[in-house]
Amino acid sequence: MHYISTRASSGKAPERKRFCEILLEGLAPDGGLYLPEHYPQVDGATLSRWRDLSYAELAFEVLSLYIDDIPAGDLKAICTKTYTEEVFGSKEIVPLRPLEPGLYLEALSNGPTLAFKDMAMQLLGNLFEYELARRAEELNILGATSGDTGSAAEYAMRGKQGVRVFMLSPKGRMSPFQQAQMFSLQDANIHNIAIDGVFDDCQDIVKAVSNDLAFKRQHKIGTVNSINWARLMAQVVYYFAGYFHATPSNAEKVSFTVPSGNFGNVCAGHVARMMGLPIDKLVVATNENDVLDEFFRTGIYRVRTSADTHETSSPSMDISKASNFERFVFDLLGRDGGKTRSLFHDQIASQGSFDLGADPAFPQAADRFGFASGKSTHADRLATIRDTYRRFATMIDTHTADGLKVAREHLQPGVPMIVLETALPIKFAATIEEALGRPPFRPAGFEGIEELPKRVKLLPADVASIQRYIAENVQ
Ligand SMILES: *Cc1c(COP(=O)(O)O)cnc(C)c1O
Repeated sequence: MHYISTRASSGKAPERKRFCEILLEGLAPDGGLYLPEHYPQVDGATLSRWRDLSYAELAFEVLSLYIDDIPAGDLKAICTKTYTEEVFGSKEIVPLRPLEPGLYLEALSNGPTLAFKDMAMQLLGNLFEYELARRAEELNILGATSGDTGSAAEYAMRGKQGVRVFMLSPKGRMSPFQQAQMFSLQDANIHNIAIDGVFDDCQDIVKAVSNDLAFKRQHKIGTVNSINWARLMAQVVYYFAGYFHATPSNAEKVSFTVPSGNFGNVCAGHVARMMGLPIDKLVVATNENDVLDEFFRTGIYRVRTSADTHETSSPSMDISKASNFERFVFDLLGRDGGKTRSLFHDQIASQGSFDLGADPAFPQAADRFGFASGKSTHADRLATIRDTYRRFATMIDTHTADGLKVAREHLQPGVPMIVLETALPIKFAATIEEALGRPPFRPAGFEGIEELPKRVKLLPADVASIQRYIAENVQ
């Protein structure tokens, strides 16, 4: 399997890379995102064979289709070591919880940091450790987080040989529980950096540093943001697992609703669907930051300014642009790298938006690729959290509530709808209190973490300051 950039110029043979070459990289050198040259196809016989596998075995099967430069025995050992009951809290790893007939929650948030990002990040930690040892190299991971990515990355990388983490977060924007999770880590290889700005400022700094090729090479900078292909690939696995749990045979289709921000999670669903998993609809659920809902309704992709980005009670979806969205648009445009480049590089730079509303490709987003969308507000979250607790005795977090609210608008008779549970309520306690008048459940092992000593550096939203800090801390 080879990987190409979404901005590979047409006419010229694209630069093709193997999995382990892009594993430790962020953006492609041309500013695009890596995607496999083709999507491996999974036929009915293969689906039947996969149906009864354990999660770790299923992960190995899916990953094997995308990774051909790690020996099978090693890859299998990495999957087995990653997806354990001990780390993820149950034998199924991603158990499916029925709410009412035809409507399910897929529990993706029982890893070490209580959000779905552990599903990919725990694997990434083990892949990084393996590959760095094999090359006898070191890596300095630079990431941006609005909360959940940062902690997931830090818990995956803490104490790992050859890896340092520099994690940027918008100062004061994460919940007290999220700050405690990250800032309480005392491992020497973990650096928390609070930025005076919003999440997108953090993300822009990561992009700027990654585009500074000399700095990147000198300081061995890598990324674990959702643009990393390996994360996306790891997420593909739980779409298969959710499908198998929700259906008795491969004759059925299911739909997924995905609380979305940077379009990473739902992009993995898109990949699963392109591989032949019988997915009917992929419903993108946004909060008040409705960049993606606007696109799927109108064809207009309009990047918001920082000032125009709302601070909401589902903060992990507070984005002004969706960094993985380019991958889908590349597929939507028939994998035309030149056109993708002109939209995301030229038009976004010059006017902050593009409009595919009149492009013949746009209707295919729904018709051929199965996408639908919807939006949820603070009031919707409160109502959904309350309703789910009262009627089903199930406590859901604010992001999952956005998903469930939008999922109900897209139910179709005979098609099971699976809502991805992206975090546990304890991470967003204030809104749970507001909705239910009681604190969220606190899973065992997280008592009193808000009181632990914090380790964090405050820096301005400025590329040079971050580069200086990294340079000083990589010796
Ligand atoms: C990261 C995150 C999201 C958004 O996922 P994307 O892959 O960025 O679309 C939604 N909910 C929670 C809880 C998250 O942590």
